[in-house]
Amino acid sequence: DTITVQELANRMAEKGADLVKALFKMGMPVTVNQTIDQDTAELLVTEFGHEIKRVSEADVDIRHDEDVDDAAALKSRAPVVTIMGHVDHGKTSLLDALRGANVQAGEAGGITQHIGAYQVKAKDGSAITFLDTPGHEAFTEMRARGANVTDIVILVVAADDGLKPQSIEAINHAKAAGVPIIVAINKIDKDGANPQRVRERLLEHEVIVEEMGGDVQNVEVSALKKQNLDKLLDAIAVQAEIMELKANPDRNAEGTVVEAKLDKGRGPVATILVRRGTLKVGDIFVCGAESGRVRALVNDKGQQIKEAGPSMPVEVLGLGGVPMAGDTLTVVENEARAREVAAYRQSEALKKRTAQAPVSLEGMFSALADKAKVIEYPVVIKGDVQGSVEAIVNALNKLSTDEIRVRVLHSGAGAITESDVTLAASTNAPIIGFNVRPNAKAREIANREKVRFLYYDVIYHLTEEIAKEMAGELGPER
Ligand code: GDP
Repeated sequence: DTITVQELANRMAEKGADLVKALFKMGMPVTVNQTIDQDTAELLVTEFGHEIKRVSEADVDIRHDEDVDDAAALKSRAPVVTIMGHVDHGKTSLLDALRGANVQAGEAGGITQHIGAYQVKAKDGSAITFLDTPGHEAFTEMRARGANVTDIVILVVAADDGLKPQSIEAINHAKAAGVPIIVAINKIDKDGANPQRVRERLLEHEVIVEEMGGDVQNVEVSALKKQNLDKLLDAIAVQAEIMELKANPDRNAEGTVVEAKLDKGRGPVATILVRRGTLKVGDIFVCGAESGRVRALVNDKGQQIKEAGPSMPVEVLGLGGVPMAGDTLTVVENEARAREVAAYRQSEALKKRTAQAPVSLEGMFSALADKAKVIEYPVVIKGDVQGSVEAIVNALNKLSTDEIRVRVLHSGAGAITESDVTLAASTNAPIIGFNVRPNAKAREIANREKVRFLYYDVIYHLTEEIAKEMAGELGPER
């Protein structure tokens, strides 16, 4: 869920400019007309000493009904878990093993269906939902769209390989999202497995496991030999209990699209993770800019079910079109209302696409009122080889002055990926591609999120242009 700065200011009865200033101090140069995500909005609200009142998106859209669940109506719900880690450390194997472990435990009937998420039961009977697209691309993309569905991150680290760049990226993404981590030290069956070394290296990234005096759980597992999987499930259950995850199951459902596609036989199909309420066959809903009526619900075992409660992943049939991952599904009272909300969202989406947003000079200028502060110029840098990436980072750092400083959010060798784009989008940073281009998915997200690409093949052209842009950000008075 997102909100424009101005709209939030109106609701807080504060000046838009004051919010822009506060956001700037938090390192987010945005204008009053740009949107911020829910986490940021909440931070701002508390910063200004107001109370947070969550309302659902549909209500924000048109009628502003009070829509907060009574504490008494809340019941505990299953945690939603995402598995992240370096390539080849065993994310997919672990996801398969965890799901298999459950099937062997004698779960009745059904054939495993890959619908984007599945649920298993821990020994104590509590359920755990796993998103089965591993890796942080899915995680960050959902987050960039305002859908923070993950409660717990499992960081898989191969015991014979140790912490690697993507392990560290995963840690940073989890931390940025404020999501607790459980470390699964995998491949302990292998010669050369050194779990202790992993625990030590984690310290350097402020992930302090219990053995090291911290509170992060870690479990040594083998996805291949199916060792200690129940221990991992128990660790998740313990973490979930600490978090006291709750939702009201007795209300109109609200959920998030985890995956969506056009199925040849069944038409548009979306996997919805129910966030609160209970989704039922026959329910009328709005999903992103689409509307529909639930024709059938299919669970992760391919079985048709009548309803799905909080934290349950379920395929929904009966959509008017294919929504996008991260979209919100909201059940509404009737079709007229569904059409009204869908039309509103479509016009909003159009506005967003046509809005001029890439550079936020206005935000920069109002932030300049606070002159003592150094302006940051955030960038993401990708290049064909590590050597040139390092050279670019060094050259850009030299452009920094007392007034404006280059802030490299992320740099690395390789094509520009979705993860780079979502990171850039969250801070309005351009992405510099040195002899590299974005992949198709990255380009698509960049279009939607209005992220700028700057391509170069000569380093001094790059520094020259960035220097000009930085001077521009400082404004005409300099
Ligand atoms: P991902 O890229 O993180 O999804 O990793 P995969 O699940 O595809 O695993 C990469 C390789 O490691 C595959 O060849 C797996 O068979 C192997 N692998 C995964 N888990 C284990 C394990 O616990 N022990 C051993 N020996 N090999 C494993």
